[in-house]
Amino acid sequence: MCGIIGYSGHRVAVPLIMEGLRRLEYRGYDSAGVAYIQDGALHVVRAPGKLIELDTKLASLNVGGALSGIGHTRWATHGLPNEKNAHPHRDTTGHLALAHNGIVENFQTLRCMLQGEGVTFSTDTDTESLAHLLAKGLREHEGDMLKALSWTLAQVEGSYALAIVRLEEPGVVYGARRHSPLVVGVGEGEHFIASDIPAFLPYTRNVVFLDAGEIVRIDAHSWGVWDAATLAQVHRTPQRISWDVQAAQKSGYKHFMLKEIFEQPRVVADCLAGRLDPAGQGVCLEELAGMPVPKRLHILPCRAVGHASV
Ligand code: GLU
Repeated sequence: MCGIIGYSGHRVAVPLIMEGLRRLEYRGYDSAGVAYIQDGALHVVRAPGKLIELDTKLASLNVGGALSGIGHTRWATHGLPNEKNAHPHRDTTGHLALAHNGIVENFQTLRCMLQGEGVTFSTDTDTESLAHLLAKGLREHEGDMLKALSWTLAQVEGSYALAIVRLEEPGVVYGARRHSPLVVGVGEGEHFIASDIPAFLPYTRNVVFLDAGEIVRIDAHSWGVWDAATLAQVHRTPQRISWDVQAAQKSGYKHFMLKEIFEQPRVVADCLAGRLDPAGQGVCLEELAGMPVPKRLHILPCRAVGHASV
Protein backbone atom coordinates (compact mmCIF):
# COMPACT_ATOMS: atom_id res chain seq x y z
CA MET A 1 0.00 0.00 0.00
CA CYS A 2 1.22 3.45 -0.74
CA GLY A 3 -0.08 7.00 -0.62
CA ILE A 4 -1.69 9.65 -2.76
CA ILE A 5 -2.64 13.21 -1.95
CA GLY A 6 -4.06 16.00 -4.08
CA TYR A 7 -4.71 19.55 -2.86
CA SER A 8 -6.32 22.76 -4.11
CA GLY A 9 -6.88 25.75 -1.85
CA HIS A 10 -5.40 28.86 -0.31
CA ARG A 11 -2.21 27.38 1.17
CA VAL A 12 1.14 26.81 -0.49
CA ALA A 13 0.58 23.30 -1.86
CA VAL A 14 3.93 21.52 -1.91
CA PRO A 15 4.82 21.71 1.82
CA LEU A 16 1.23 20.68 2.68
CA ILE A 17 1.46 17.76 0.25
CA MET A 18 4.79 16.66 1.76
CA GLU A 19 3.26 16.84 5.23
CA GLY A 20 0.32 14.73 4.01
CA LEU A 21 2.67 12.14 2.49
CA ARG A 22 4.50 11.96 5.81
CA ARG A 23 1.23 11.09 7.54
CA LEU A 24 0.77 8.27 5.00
CA GLU A 25 4.26 6.87 5.57
CA TYR A 26 2.86 4.10 7.77
CA ARG A 27 1.52 2.52 4.55
CA GLY A 28 5.07 1.80 3.34
CA TYR A 29 6.82 3.13 0.20
CA ASP A 30 10.09 3.05 -1.75
CA SER A 31 10.10 6.42 -3.53
CA ALA A 32 8.07 9.61 -3.71
CA GLY A 33 7.20 12.55 -5.93
CA VAL A 34 5.11 15.69 -6.34
CA ALA A 35 3.65 17.61 -9.29
CA TYR A 36 2.52 21.23 -9.28
CA ILE A 37 1.88 24.05 -11.73
CA GLN A 38 3.83 27.25 -11.29
CA ASP A 39 4.84 30.09 -13.63
CA GLY A 40 2.89 28.52 -16.49
CA ALA A 41 4.75 25.20 -16.35
CA LEU A 42 4.01 21.76 -14.94
CA HIS A 43 6.80 20.72 -12.56
CA VAL A 44 7.45 17.15 -11.42
CA VAL A 45 10.01 16.41 -8.71
CA ARG A 46 10.73 12.81 -7.68
CA ALA A 47 13.25 10.88 -5.61
CA PRO A 48 13.91 7.26 -4.65
CA GLY A 49 14.08 6.39 -0.95
CA LYS A 50 12.62 8.22 2.00
CA LEU A 51 10.71 11.51 1.90
CA ILE A 52 13.79 13.31 3.21
CA GLU A 53 15.41 12.69 -0.21
CA LEU A 54 12.51 14.46 -1.90
CA ASP A 55 12.65 17.23 0.74
CA THR A 56 16.30 17.79 -0.13
CA LYS A 57 15.50 18.20 -3.83
CA LEU A 58 12.58 20.52 -3.13
CA ALA A 59 14.65 22.67 -0.78
CA SER A 60 16.61 24.11 -3.72
CA LEU A 61 13.42 24.99 -5.64
CA ASN A 62 10.99 27.84 -5.22
CA VAL A 63 7.62 26.14 -4.85
CA GLY A 64 5.87 29.04 -3.11
CA GLY A 65 3.63 30.00 -6.03
CA ALA A 66 1.63 26.77 -6.37
CA LEU A 67 -1.67 26.54 -4.48
CA SER A 68 -2.53 23.11 -5.87
CA GLY A 69 -0.76 19.90 -6.72
CA ILE A 70 -0.46 16.15 -6.18
CA GLY A 71 1.93 13.88 -4.30
CA HIS A 72 2.63 10.15 -4.23
CA THR A 73 4.54 7.58 -2.26
CA ARG A 74 5.19 4.52 -4.40
CA TRP A 75 5.41 0.86 -3.57
CA ALA A 76 6.73 -0.52 -6.84
CA THR A 77 4.86 -3.33 -8.54
CA HIS A 78 6.21 -2.81 -12.10
CA GLY A 79 9.70 -1.41 -12.58
CA LEU A 80 12.52 -0.81 -10.14
CA PRO A 81 12.08 1.66 -7.27
CA ASN A 82 14.22 4.40 -8.84
CA GLU A 83 13.68 8.06 -9.76
CA LYS A 84 12.65 7.34 -13.35
CA ASN A 85 9.82 5.05 -12.22
CA ALA A 86 8.68 7.22 -9.29
CA HIS A 87 5.31 8.96 -9.72
CA PRO A 88 3.83 11.31 -10.85
CA HIS A 89 4.17 10.31 -14.52
CA ARG A 90 3.70 12.66 -17.47
CA ASP A 91 2.36 12.33 -20.99
CA THR A 92 4.78 13.08 -23.84
CA THR A 93 3.79 16.76 -24.05
CA GLY A 94 4.41 17.24 -20.32
CA HIS A 95 0.99 18.86 -19.96
CA LEU A 96 -0.47 16.36 -17.51
CA ALA A 97 0.91 14.48 -14.50
CA LEU A 98 -0.70 11.48 -12.89
CA ALA A 99 -0.08 9.55 -9.65
CA HIS A 100 -1.45 6.04 -9.27
CA ASN A 101 -1.92 3.49 -6.50
CA GLY A 102 -2.68 0.01 -7.75
CA ILE A 103 -1.93 -2.18 -10.75
CA VAL A 104 -2.92 -1.74 -14.41
CA GLU A 105 -3.35 -5.41 -15.30
CA ASN A 106 -3.63 -4.79 -19.07
CA PHE A 107 -0.74 -2.32 -19.28
CA GLN A 108 1.13 -4.45 -21.84
CA THR A 109 -1.80 -4.26 -24.26
CA LEU A 110 -2.19 -0.51 -23.71
CA ARG A 111 1.56 0.06 -24.03
CA CYS A 112 1.79 -1.88 -27.32
CA MET A 113 -1.24 -0.03 -28.72
CA LEU A 114 0.19 3.38 -27.75
CA GLN A 115 3.71 2.53 -28.98
CA GLY A 116 2.12 1.48 -32.26
CA GLU A 117 0.75 5.03 -32.49
CA GLY A 118 4.22 6.49 -31.98
CA VAL A 119 4.21 7.16 -28.22
CA THR A 120 7.65 6.84 -26.58
CA PHE A 121 7.63 5.47 -23.05
CA SER A 122 10.23 6.66 -20.57
CA THR A 123 9.56 4.41 -17.55
CA ASP A 124 9.10 0.71 -16.80
CA THR A 125 5.84 1.19 -14.91
CA ASP A 126 2.35 0.00 -15.66
CA THR A 127 1.16 3.50 -14.67
CA GLU A 128 2.80 5.41 -17.53
CA SER A 129 0.35 3.85 -20.00
CA LEU A 130 -2.45 5.68 -18.13
CA ALA A 131 -0.80 9.08 -18.64
CA HIS A 132 -0.45 8.54 -22.39
CA LEU A 133 -3.92 7.03 -22.74
CA LEU A 134 -5.46 9.99 -20.92
CA ALA A 135 -3.54 12.41 -23.15
CA LYS A 136 -5.00 10.58 -26.17
CA GLY A 137 -8.45 10.78 -24.56
CA LEU A 138 -8.05 14.53 -24.09
CA ARG A 139 -7.15 14.94 -27.78
CA GLU A 140 -10.17 12.87 -28.82
CA HIS A 141 -12.54 14.76 -26.50
CA GLU A 142 -11.40 18.30 -27.22
CA GLY A 143 -9.75 18.74 -23.84
CA ASP A 144 -12.86 17.76 -21.84
CA MET A 145 -11.25 16.06 -18.86
CA LEU A 146 -14.36 14.28 -17.54
CA LYS A 147 -15.09 12.73 -20.94
CA ALA A 148 -11.41 11.88 -21.46
CA LEU A 149 -11.19 10.22 -18.04
CA SER A 150 -14.36 8.23 -18.60
CA TRP A 151 -13.07 7.07 -22.01
CA THR A 152 -9.66 6.18 -20.50
CA LEU A 153 -10.94 4.30 -17.46
CA ALA A 154 -13.29 2.20 -19.60
CA GLN A 155 -10.16 0.69 -21.19
CA VAL A 156 -8.30 -0.02 -17.95
CA GLU A 157 -8.32 -3.40 -16.23
CA GLY A 158 -7.04 -3.66 -12.68
CA SER A 159 -7.01 -1.45 -9.62
CA TYR A 160 -6.38 2.25 -9.29
CA ALA A 161 -6.65 5.34 -7.19
CA LEU A 162 -5.54 8.30 -9.32
CA ALA A 163 -4.64 11.94 -8.76
CA ILE A 164 -4.15 14.10 -11.85
CA VAL A 165 -3.17 17.71 -12.63
CA ARG A 166 -2.92 19.38 -16.04
CA LEU A 167 -1.40 22.58 -17.28
CA GLU A 168 -4.60 23.70 -18.98
CA GLU A 169 -6.52 23.67 -15.66
CA PRO A 170 -4.28 25.15 -12.96
CA GLY A 171 -5.95 24.96 -9.55
CA VAL A 172 -7.91 21.82 -10.45
CA VAL A 173 -7.13 18.27 -9.32
CA TYR A 174 -8.94 15.20 -10.64
CA GLY A 175 -9.15 11.79 -8.97
CA ALA A 176 -10.72 8.42 -9.69
CA ARG A 177 -10.81 5.06 -8.02
CA ARG A 178 -11.48 1.37 -8.57
CA HIS A 179 -10.49 -1.17 -5.90
CA SER A 180 -7.82 1.15 -4.40
CA PRO A 181 -9.13 3.63 -1.80
CA LEU A 182 -9.58 7.38 -2.37
CA VAL A 183 -11.28 9.86 -0.03
CA VAL A 184 -12.21 13.52 -0.51
CA GLY A 185 -11.56 16.10 2.22
CA VAL A 186 -14.00 19.04 2.14
CA GLY A 187 -12.50 22.14 3.78
CA GLU A 188 -13.16 25.90 3.88
CA GLY A 189 -11.79 27.32 0.64
CA GLU A 190 -9.71 24.18 0.15
CA HIS A 191 -10.24 20.57 -0.90
CA PHE A 192 -8.22 17.40 -0.74
CA ILE A 193 -8.14 13.92 -2.17
CA ALA A 194 -6.08 11.20 -0.53
CA SER A 195 -5.75 7.47 -0.22
CA ASP A 196 -6.39 7.76 3.51
CA ILE A 197 -7.90 10.32 5.90
CA PRO A 198 -4.76 11.07 8.00
CA ALA A 199 -3.23 12.85 4.97
CA PHE A 200 -5.54 15.85 5.46
CA LEU A 201 -7.00 15.38 8.96
CA PRO A 202 -5.32 18.50 10.48
CA TYR A 203 -7.20 20.63 7.91
CA THR A 204 -10.66 19.08 7.70
CA ARG A 205 -12.77 16.37 9.29
CA ASN A 206 -15.43 16.44 6.58
CA VAL A 207 -14.90 13.43 4.37
CA VAL A 208 -16.50 11.75 1.36
CA PHE A 209 -15.54 8.13 0.69
CA LEU A 210 -15.52 7.62 -3.07
CA ASP A 211 -17.12 4.46 -4.39
CA ALA A 212 -15.49 2.24 -7.00
CA GLY A 213 -15.99 3.62 -10.50
CA GLU A 214 -16.25 7.27 -9.47
CA ILE A 215 -14.40 10.37 -10.66
CA VAL A 216 -13.84 13.43 -8.47
CA ARG A 217 -12.88 16.99 -9.41
CA ILE A 218 -11.71 19.49 -6.79
CA ASP A 219 -10.65 23.11 -6.89
CA ALA A 220 -10.31 25.61 -4.05
CA HIS A 221 -14.02 26.42 -3.89
CA SER A 222 -15.87 23.36 -5.18
CA TRP A 223 -15.86 19.60 -5.41
CA GLY A 224 -17.93 17.19 -7.49
CA VAL A 225 -18.27 13.44 -8.01
CA TRP A 226 -19.31 11.69 -11.24
CA ASP A 227 -20.01 8.10 -12.23
CA ALA A 228 -17.04 7.23 -14.45
CA ALA A 229 -19.09 5.14 -16.88
CA THR A 230 -22.13 7.42 -17.41
CA LEU A 231 -20.71 10.78 -16.28
CA ALA A 232 -23.93 11.30 -14.31
CA GLN A 233 -23.21 13.56 -11.33
CA VAL A 234 -23.36 11.73 -7.99
CA HIS A 235 -24.68 13.71 -5.00
CA ARG A 236 -22.81 12.93 -1.81
CA THR A 237 -22.94 14.38 1.69
CA PRO A 238 -19.65 14.62 3.61
CA GLN A 239 -19.37 12.65 6.86
CA ARG A 240 -17.77 14.14 9.96
CA ILE A 241 -14.80 12.10 11.23
CA SER A 242 -14.06 12.26 14.97
CA TRP A 243 -10.80 10.24 14.97
CA ASP A 244 -7.40 11.81 15.66
CA VAL A 245 -4.54 11.15 13.21
CA GLN A 246 -3.34 8.03 15.04
CA ALA A 247 -6.81 6.52 15.30
CA ALA A 248 -7.44 7.38 11.63
CA GLN A 249 -4.22 5.64 10.63
CA LYS A 250 -5.51 2.60 12.48
CA SER A 251 -9.05 3.06 11.02
CA GLY A 252 -10.46 2.98 14.53
CA TYR A 253 -8.71 -0.31 15.51
CA LYS A 254 -6.67 -0.43 18.73
CA HIS A 255 -3.48 -1.69 17.06
CA PHE A 256 -2.05 -1.72 13.51
CA MET A 257 -1.79 -5.52 13.76
CA LEU A 258 -5.52 -5.79 14.46
CA LYS A 259 -6.28 -3.43 11.58
CA GLU A 260 -4.10 -5.44 9.21
CA ILE A 261 -5.71 -8.72 10.28
CA PHE A 262 -9.19 -7.34 9.55
CA GLU A 263 -7.99 -5.76 6.29
CA GLN A 264 -6.83 -9.10 4.90
CA PRO A 265 -10.03 -10.05 3.03
CA ARG A 266 -10.18 -6.63 1.32
CA VAL A 267 -6.46 -6.56 0.53
CA VAL A 268 -6.56 -10.05 -1.00
CA ALA A 269 -9.72 -9.09 -2.93
CA ASP A 270 -8.07 -5.87 -4.18
CA CYS A 271 -4.93 -7.72 -5.24
CA LEU A 272 -6.95 -10.30 -7.14
CA ALA A 273 -9.43 -7.76 -8.50
CA GLY A 274 -7.90 -7.62 -11.97
CA ARG A 275 -7.83 -11.40 -12.18
CA LEU A 276 -11.41 -12.23 -11.25
CA ASP A 277 -13.42 -13.39 -14.21
CA PRO A 278 -16.35 -11.05 -14.99
CA ALA A 279 -18.99 -13.59 -14.02
CA GLY A 280 -17.30 -13.92 -10.63
CA GLN A 281 -16.92 -17.64 -11.20
CA GLY A 282 -13.23 -17.92 -10.39
CA VAL A 283 -9.77 -16.40 -10.43
CA CYS A 284 -7.85 -16.26 -13.73
CA LEU A 285 -4.13 -16.88 -13.30
CA GLU A 286 -3.02 -16.76 -16.96
CA GLU A 287 0.59 -17.47 -16.01
CA LEU A 288 -0.48 -20.95 -14.81
CA ALA A 289 -2.31 -21.84 -18.03
CA GLY A 290 -1.34 -25.32 -19.21
CA MET A 291 0.20 -26.28 -15.87
CA PRO A 292 -1.23 -29.07 -13.71
CA VAL A 293 -3.78 -27.83 -11.17
CA PRO A 294 -1.73 -27.01 -8.06
CA LYS A 295 -2.56 -28.75 -4.78
CA ARG A 296 -1.53 -25.75 -2.74
CA LEU A 297 -1.19 -22.09 -3.68
CA HIS A 298 1.19 -19.76 -1.84
CA ILE A 299 0.39 -16.06 -2.25
CA LEU A 300 3.54 -13.96 -1.85
CA PRO A 301 3.33 -10.19 -1.45
CA CYS A 302 5.79 -7.88 -3.28
CA ARG A 303 8.74 -7.23 -0.98
CA ALA A 304 7.66 -10.35 0.86
CA VAL A 305 8.51 -10.52 4.52
CA GLY A 306 6.25 -13.51 4.98
CA HIS A 307 3.70 -15.52 3.08
CA ALA A 308 0.22 -16.85 3.45
CA SER A 309 -0.95 -20.24 2.35
CA VAL A 310 -4.45 -20.92 1.09
N1 GLU B 1 1.86 -0.13 -10.13
C1 GLU B 1 2.41 1.18 -9.98
C2 GLU B 1 3.92 1.17 -10.03
O1 GLU B 1 4.54 0.15 -9.89
C3 GLU B 1 1.91 1.85 -8.71
C4 GLU B 1 2.43 1.21 -7.46
C5 GLU B 1 1.82 1.83 -6.21
O2 GLU B 1 0.65 1.54 -5.94
O3 GLU B 1 2.55 2.60 -5.56
O4 GLU B 1 4.50 2.19 -10.25
